Amino acid sequence: MTYVVIDNCIRCKYTDCVEVCPVDCFHEGPNFLVIDPEECIDCTLCEPECPAEAIVAEDDLPADQEQFLELNAELAKVWPVITEKKDSPPDAADWDGVPDKLQYLER
Ligand code: SF4
Ligand code: SF4
Repeated sequence: MTYVVIDNCIRCKYTDCVEVCPVDCFHEGPNFLVIDPEECIDCTLCEPECPAEAIVAEDDLPADQEQFLELNAELAKVWPVITEKKDSPPDAADWDGVPDKLQYLER
């Protein structure tokens, strides 16, 4: 199993999650983070750290978020690892909770 970053991280990217990961699973894109499913050890530490509730276990993925499993795996191969928290976008709070943000994903 793995943990998966889902839609609500897009344009929020608070990065609270990255510092707790013991195996440096998180990879950073322009406005989204993903988890490398080949590295994730299912330790659960990151899930409660996300203020946007945008991290879920693979087995708990809502039906409308299933595409994020493949998207995390795909983008983790091309985006660099992030291990230190950084400032979130200035408008992150405005985007928290906005539905269907996949259309805004920058690669
Ligand atoms: S804490 Fe949540 S919103 Fe922030 S980068 Fe991590 S997964 Fe995305
Ligand atoms: S569950 Fe653990 S290993 Fe997997 S991404 Fe989260 S913190 Fe990292």
